[in-house]
Amino acid sequence: MLFSESVTNVIIEISKHCNRSCDYCPVAASDRASSAEVFRENLYESIIRDLAKINYSQSICLNLYNEPSADRALLLKRIQFCREVLPDARIYFSSNGDYLTEDYIHAMVQAGLSELYVTLHLAKSEPYSDASAISRFTEFSARLGKPVKIHTASPNHTIQGNLRLHGLPITVFSTNYMSYGSDRAGSVASITNSEFKRTSPCNRPYQDFTISYNGIVFPCCQMFADNPEHTSNYAIGNISEYESIFHAYASSAMAGWRRDLLRESPKMTPCESCTEGCYEVSQAEREQRDALYKEYVGPILDSRVINQSSRLRNRIRSLFSTKLV
Ligand code: SF4
Ligand code: SF4
Repeated sequence: MLFSESVTNVIIEISKHCNRSCDYCPVAASDRASSAEVFRENLYESIIRDLAKINYSQSICLNLYNEPSADRALLLKRIQFCREVLPDARIYFSSNGDYLTEDYIHAMVQAGLSELYVTLHLAKSEPYSDASAISRFTEFSARLGKPVKIHTASPNHTIQGNLRLHGLPITVFSTNYMSYGSDRAGSVASITNSEFKRTSPCNRPYQDFTISYNGIVFPCCQMFADNPEHTSNYAIGNISEYESIFHAYASSAMAGWRRDLLRESPKMTPCESCTEGCYEVSQAEREQRDALYKEYVGPILDSRVINQSSRLRNRIRSLFSTKLV
Protein backbone atom coordinates (compact mmCIF):
# COMPACT_ATOMS: atom_id res chain seq x y z
CA MET A 1 0.00 0.00 0.00
CA LEU A 2 1.27 3.46 -0.96
CA PHE A 3 0.77 5.00 2.50
CA SER A 4 2.61 2.31 4.45
CA GLU A 5 5.49 2.37 1.98
CA SER A 6 5.86 6.16 2.06
CA VAL A 7 4.67 7.83 5.26
CA THR A 8 7.09 7.90 8.18
CA ASN A 9 5.57 10.74 10.19
CA VAL A 10 1.91 11.37 10.99
CA ILE A 11 1.42 14.79 12.57
CA ILE A 12 -1.77 15.45 14.55
CA GLU A 13 -2.14 18.84 16.18
CA ILE A 14 -4.02 17.64 19.28
CA SER A 15 -4.99 21.15 20.42
CA LYS A 16 -4.96 24.75 19.25
CA HIS A 17 -3.57 26.42 22.34
CA CYS A 18 -0.08 27.86 22.62
CA ASN A 19 0.89 30.01 25.59
CA ARG A 20 3.57 31.90 23.63
CA SER A 21 3.47 34.24 20.67
CA CYS A 22 6.95 34.13 19.18
CA ASP A 23 7.75 36.77 16.54
CA TYR A 24 9.05 34.16 14.08
CA CYS A 25 5.96 31.96 14.34
CA PRO A 26 2.58 32.34 12.55
CA VAL A 27 0.96 32.05 15.98
CA ALA A 28 1.99 35.69 16.57
CA ALA A 29 -0.66 36.76 14.04
CA SER A 30 -3.33 34.61 15.64
CA ASP A 31 -4.86 34.25 19.09
CA ARG A 32 -4.04 30.83 20.35
CA ALA A 33 -3.36 31.73 23.97
CA SER A 34 -7.05 32.11 24.76
CA SER A 35 -8.17 29.02 22.86
CA ALA A 36 -9.09 25.73 24.51
CA GLU A 37 -10.10 24.05 21.25
CA VAL A 38 -8.90 20.47 20.92
CA PHE A 39 -8.72 17.93 18.12
CA ARG A 40 -11.94 15.90 18.21
CA GLU A 41 -11.42 12.78 20.25
CA ASN A 42 -13.46 10.45 18.03
CA LEU A 43 -11.57 11.67 14.97
CA TYR A 44 -8.22 11.19 16.71
CA GLU A 45 -9.15 7.67 17.72
CA SER A 46 -10.39 6.74 14.26
CA ILE A 47 -7.11 7.97 12.69
CA ILE A 48 -5.07 5.94 15.16
CA ARG A 49 -7.26 2.90 14.50
CA ASP A 50 -6.78 3.40 10.75
CA LEU A 51 -3.05 3.28 11.34
CA ALA A 52 -3.40 0.10 13.39
CA LYS A 53 -4.82 -1.61 10.30
CA ILE A 54 -1.40 -1.34 8.67
CA ASN A 55 0.51 -2.02 11.91
CA TYR A 56 1.97 1.46 11.65
CA SER A 57 5.29 1.53 13.48
CA GLN A 58 6.71 4.86 12.31
CA SER A 59 6.42 8.26 13.99
CA ILE A 60 3.37 10.02 15.42
CA CYS A 61 3.89 13.67 16.28
CA LEU A 62 1.36 15.42 18.55
CA ASN A 63 2.08 19.05 17.73
CA LEU A 64 2.15 21.61 14.95
CA TYR A 65 1.68 25.15 16.26
CA ASN A 66 0.23 24.16 19.62
CA GLU A 67 1.85 23.54 22.98
CA PRO A 68 0.66 20.00 23.78
CA SER A 69 1.99 20.00 27.34
CA ALA A 70 -0.24 22.93 28.32
CA ASP A 71 -3.12 20.46 28.87
CA ARG A 72 -1.70 17.62 30.93
CA ALA A 73 -4.82 15.46 31.06
CA LEU A 74 -5.38 15.74 27.30
CA LEU A 75 -1.78 15.03 26.38
CA LEU A 76 -1.45 11.97 28.62
CA LYS A 77 -4.75 10.59 27.36
CA ARG A 78 -3.74 11.02 23.71
CA ILE A 79 -0.32 9.43 24.27
CA GLN A 80 -1.82 6.52 26.19
CA PHE A 81 -4.47 5.76 23.57
CA CYS A 82 -1.91 5.92 20.78
CA ARG A 83 0.46 3.63 22.69
CA GLU A 84 -2.28 1.07 23.37
CA VAL A 85 -3.41 0.92 19.75
CA LEU A 86 0.02 1.36 18.10
CA PRO A 87 2.45 -0.45 20.41
CA ASP A 88 5.40 -0.08 18.03
CA ALA A 89 4.96 3.56 16.97
CA ARG A 90 7.45 6.24 17.88
CA ILE A 91 5.31 8.81 19.71
CA TYR A 92 6.87 12.23 20.13
CA PHE A 93 6.18 15.96 20.14
CA SER A 94 7.95 19.30 20.24
CA SER A 95 7.42 21.59 23.20
CA ASN A 96 8.47 25.03 24.31
CA GLY A 97 9.32 23.42 27.65
CA ASP A 98 7.38 25.91 29.78
CA TYR A 99 5.22 23.30 31.53
CA LEU A 100 7.77 20.52 31.82
CA THR A 101 8.78 19.15 35.19
CA GLU A 102 10.46 15.94 36.23
CA ASP A 103 7.20 14.33 37.41
CA TYR A 104 5.31 15.41 34.26
CA ILE A 105 7.95 13.77 32.11
CA HIS A 106 7.71 10.65 34.24
CA ALA A 107 3.94 10.58 33.59
CA MET A 108 4.51 11.00 29.83
CA VAL A 109 6.91 8.06 29.84
CA GLN A 110 4.42 5.92 31.72
CA ALA A 111 1.74 6.87 29.17
CA GLY A 112 4.02 5.70 26.36
CA LEU A 113 5.93 8.68 24.97
CA SER A 114 9.04 7.69 22.98
CA GLU A 115 10.91 10.95 22.52
CA LEU A 116 10.65 14.68 23.21
CA TYR A 117 12.04 17.79 21.52
CA VAL A 118 12.22 21.04 23.46
CA THR A 119 12.80 24.46 21.93
CA LEU A 120 13.76 27.05 24.53
CA HIS A 121 12.49 30.38 23.22
CA LEU A 122 13.53 33.75 24.54
CA ALA A 123 10.99 36.33 25.72
CA LYS A 124 8.75 37.80 23.03
CA SER A 125 10.57 40.40 20.91
CA GLU A 126 13.85 39.75 22.73
CA PRO A 127 16.60 39.49 20.10
CA TYR A 128 18.47 36.19 20.12
CA SER A 129 21.74 36.17 22.04
CA ASP A 130 23.97 33.30 23.11
CA ALA A 131 23.94 34.56 26.71
CA SER A 132 20.13 34.57 26.92
CA ALA A 133 19.95 31.14 25.30
CA ILE A 134 22.43 29.74 27.82
CA SER A 135 20.37 31.22 30.67
CA ARG A 136 17.35 29.36 29.38
CA PHE A 137 19.31 26.10 29.29
CA THR A 138 20.42 26.71 32.89
CA GLU A 139 16.87 27.43 34.06
CA PHE A 140 15.48 24.40 32.22
CA SER A 141 18.13 22.04 33.62
CA ALA A 142 17.48 23.29 37.15
CA ARG A 143 13.72 22.79 36.75
CA LEU A 144 14.20 19.20 35.55
CA GLY A 145 16.86 18.46 38.14
CA LYS A 146 19.24 17.17 35.50
CA PRO A 147 21.75 18.99 33.28
CA VAL A 148 21.35 19.22 29.53
CA LYS A 149 24.55 18.03 27.87
CA ILE A 150 25.44 20.64 25.23
CA HIS A 151 26.84 19.18 22.02
CA THR A 152 26.47 22.10 19.59
CA ALA A 153 27.14 25.80 20.15
CA SER A 154 27.17 27.96 17.03
CA PRO A 155 27.52 31.65 17.96
CA ASN A 156 24.42 33.77 17.30
CA HIS A 157 22.83 30.78 15.60
CA THR A 158 21.97 27.83 17.83
CA ILE A 159 22.75 25.93 21.03
CA GLN A 160 21.74 22.29 21.17
CA GLY A 161 22.02 19.52 23.67
CA ASN A 162 20.31 16.47 25.09
CA LEU A 163 19.50 14.58 28.21
CA ARG A 164 17.70 11.41 29.20
CA LEU A 165 15.12 11.54 31.97
CA HIS A 166 13.19 8.45 33.14
CA GLY A 167 14.62 6.79 30.04
CA LEU A 168 13.11 9.41 27.71
CA PRO A 169 15.52 10.90 25.15
CA ILE A 170 15.06 14.69 25.17
CA THR A 171 16.67 16.96 22.58
CA VAL A 172 16.92 20.61 23.58
CA PHE A 173 17.47 23.58 21.24
CA SER A 174 17.60 27.32 21.35
CA THR A 175 17.88 28.83 17.88
CA ASN A 176 18.01 32.25 16.31
CA TYR A 177 14.87 31.74 14.24
CA MET A 178 14.67 35.36 13.07
CA SER A 179 17.83 34.63 11.07
CA TYR A 180 17.61 30.88 10.55
CA GLY A 181 13.88 30.13 10.69
CA SER A 182 11.43 29.20 7.98
CA ASP A 183 8.77 31.65 6.76
CA ARG A 184 6.15 28.93 7.27
CA ALA A 185 4.86 28.88 3.74
CA GLY A 186 4.82 32.68 3.62
CA SER A 187 2.96 33.14 6.93
CA VAL A 188 5.88 34.99 8.54
CA ALA A 189 6.74 37.63 5.95
CA SER A 190 9.45 39.17 8.14
CA ILE A 191 11.51 36.01 7.66
CA THR A 192 10.95 35.59 3.92
CA ASN A 193 14.12 36.05 1.91
CA SER A 194 12.85 37.59 -1.32
CA GLU A 195 16.07 36.73 -3.12
CA PHE A 196 15.75 33.03 -2.39
CA LYS A 197 13.90 30.91 -4.95
CA ARG A 198 13.59 27.24 -4.12
CA THR A 199 14.47 24.62 -6.70
CA SER A 200 15.13 21.75 -4.31
CA PRO A 201 12.61 18.89 -4.30
CA CYS A 202 10.59 18.43 -1.13
CA ASN A 203 9.80 15.10 0.45
CA ARG A 204 7.29 16.35 3.01
CA PRO A 205 4.11 15.54 1.05
CA TYR A 206 5.51 12.06 0.50
CA GLN A 207 6.76 11.21 3.98
CA ASP A 208 4.56 13.31 6.25
CA PHE A 209 0.82 13.30 6.79
CA THR A 210 -0.23 16.52 8.52
CA ILE A 211 -3.56 17.29 10.22
CA SER A 212 -4.35 20.55 12.03
CA TYR A 213 -6.36 20.86 15.27
CA ASN A 214 -9.58 21.43 13.30
CA GLY A 215 -9.13 18.39 11.07
CA ILE A 216 -7.73 20.25 8.06
CA VAL A 217 -5.19 18.18 6.14
CA PHE A 218 -2.24 20.07 4.69
CA PRO A 219 0.55 18.88 2.39
CA CYS A 220 3.13 19.75 5.05
CA CYS A 221 3.72 21.16 8.52
CA GLN A 222 4.57 24.63 7.17
CA MET A 223 0.90 25.39 6.52
CA PHE A 224 -1.02 27.13 9.27
CA ALA A 225 -4.70 26.43 9.93
CA ASP A 226 -5.39 29.99 11.18
CA ASN A 227 -4.13 31.53 7.94
CA PRO A 228 -7.14 31.95 5.60
CA GLU A 229 -4.90 31.92 2.52
CA HIS A 230 -3.49 28.57 3.55
CA THR A 231 -6.88 27.01 4.29
CA SER A 232 -8.40 28.39 1.05
CA ASN A 233 -5.56 27.55 -1.27
CA TYR A 234 -3.46 24.74 0.15
CA ALA A 235 -5.76 22.56 2.29
CA ILE A 236 -6.39 19.04 1.05
CA GLY A 237 -9.78 19.00 2.82
CA ASN A 238 -10.95 17.95 6.23
CA ILE A 239 -9.93 14.51 7.41
CA SER A 240 -13.53 13.85 8.51
CA GLU A 241 -14.60 14.05 4.84
CA TYR A 242 -12.38 11.14 3.85
CA GLU A 243 -13.19 7.48 4.28
CA SER A 244 -9.80 6.97 5.93
CA ILE A 245 -6.41 8.58 6.36
CA PHE A 246 -5.27 6.47 3.41
CA HIS A 247 -7.91 7.95 1.10
CA ALA A 248 -6.81 11.47 2.06
CA TYR A 249 -3.19 10.60 1.32
CA ALA A 250 -4.16 9.11 -2.05
CA SER A 251 -6.36 12.09 -3.04
CA SER A 252 -5.65 13.86 -6.31
CA ALA A 253 -4.89 17.08 -4.40
CA MET A 254 -2.13 15.39 -2.39
CA ALA A 255 -0.85 13.69 -5.53
CA GLY A 256 -0.60 17.13 -7.15
CA TRP A 257 1.69 18.42 -4.40
CA ARG A 258 3.86 15.33 -4.70
CA ARG A 259 4.06 15.78 -8.44
CA ASP A 260 5.03 19.45 -8.14
CA LEU A 261 7.75 18.75 -5.61
CA LEU A 262 9.25 15.58 -7.04
CA ARG A 263 11.86 17.18 -9.26
CA GLU A 264 14.53 19.80 -8.87
CA SER A 265 12.78 22.72 -10.58
CA PRO A 266 11.42 26.21 -9.84
CA LYS A 267 8.62 26.00 -7.31
CA MET A 268 5.29 27.78 -7.09
CA THR A 269 3.91 29.75 -4.13
CA PRO A 270 4.20 28.95 -1.25
CA CYS A 271 7.04 26.50 -1.87
CA GLU A 272 9.19 28.95 -3.83
CA SER A 273 10.23 30.81 -0.65
CA CYS A 274 10.38 27.77 1.60
CA THR A 275 13.77 26.81 2.99
CA GLU A 276 12.49 23.81 4.92
CA GLY A 277 14.35 20.63 3.98
CA CYS A 278 16.27 22.25 1.10
CA TYR A 279 19.33 20.36 -0.02
CA GLU A 280 21.89 20.11 -2.82
CA VAL A 281 20.66 17.55 -5.33
CA SER A 282 23.32 15.33 -6.89
CA GLN A 283 23.36 14.73 -10.64
CA ALA A 284 22.46 11.07 -10.09
CA GLU A 285 19.47 11.95 -7.93
CA ARG A 286 18.36 14.63 -10.40
CA GLU A 287 18.33 12.11 -13.24
CA GLN A 288 16.52 9.57 -11.11
CA ARG A 289 13.82 12.05 -10.14
CA ASP A 290 13.40 13.25 -13.73
CA ALA A 291 13.03 9.67 -14.90
CA LEU A 292 10.38 9.00 -12.24
CA TYR A 293 8.51 12.13 -13.28
CA LYS A 294 8.50 11.11 -16.94
CA GLU A 295 7.36 7.60 -16.07
CA TYR A 296 4.54 8.51 -13.68
CA VAL A 297 3.48 12.01 -14.72
CA GLY A 298 4.55 12.76 -18.27
CA PRO A 299 6.88 15.01 -20.26
CA ILE A 300 8.75 17.69 -18.36
CA LEU A 301 7.20 21.06 -19.20
CA ASP A 302 8.82 24.47 -19.06
CA SER A 303 7.84 25.67 -15.59
CA ARG A 304 7.22 29.20 -16.92
CA VAL A 305 3.99 28.03 -18.56
CA ILE A 306 2.46 27.28 -15.17
CA ASN A 307 0.56 30.30 -13.92
CA GLN A 308 1.61 31.55 -10.49
CA SER A 309 -1.96 32.17 -9.33
CA SER A 310 -2.53 29.91 -6.36
CA ARG A 311 -6.17 29.22 -7.18
CA LEU A 312 -5.39 28.24 -10.74
CA ARG A 313 -2.42 26.25 -9.53
CA ASN A 314 -4.63 24.25 -7.18
CA ARG A 315 -7.05 23.55 -10.02
CA ILE A 316 -4.18 22.34 -12.15
CA ARG A 317 -2.97 20.17 -9.29
CA SER A 318 -6.33 18.53 -8.78
CA LEU A 319 -6.67 17.83 -12.51
CA PHE A 320 -3.41 15.98 -12.71
CA SER A 321 -3.31 12.23 -12.76
CA THR A 322 -3.01 10.38 -9.45
CA LYS A 323 -0.57 7.91 -10.93
CA LEU A 324 1.91 8.85 -8.24
CA VAL A 325 -0.35 7.40 -5.64
S1 SF4 B 1 7.23 28.91 18.07
FE1 SF4 B 1 6.24 27.37 19.36
S2 SF4 B 1 6.06 28.34 21.37
FE2 SF4 B 1 6.45 29.98 19.91
S3 SF4 B 1 4.38 30.71 19.36
FE3 SF4 B 1 5.01 29.19 17.84
S4 SF4 B 1 4.13 27.26 18.55
FE4 SF4 B 1 4.12 28.68 20.29
S1 SF4 C 1 8.52 23.15 -0.05
FE1 SF4 C 1 8.03 23.88 2.02
S2 SF4 C 1 5.93 24.67 1.85
FE2 SF4 C 1 6.29 23.37 0.06
S3 SF4 C 1 5.53 21.32 0.66
FE3 SF4 C 1 7.75 21.39 1.12
S4 SF4 C 1 7.90 22.01 3.27
FE4 SF4 C 1 5.83 22.52 2.54
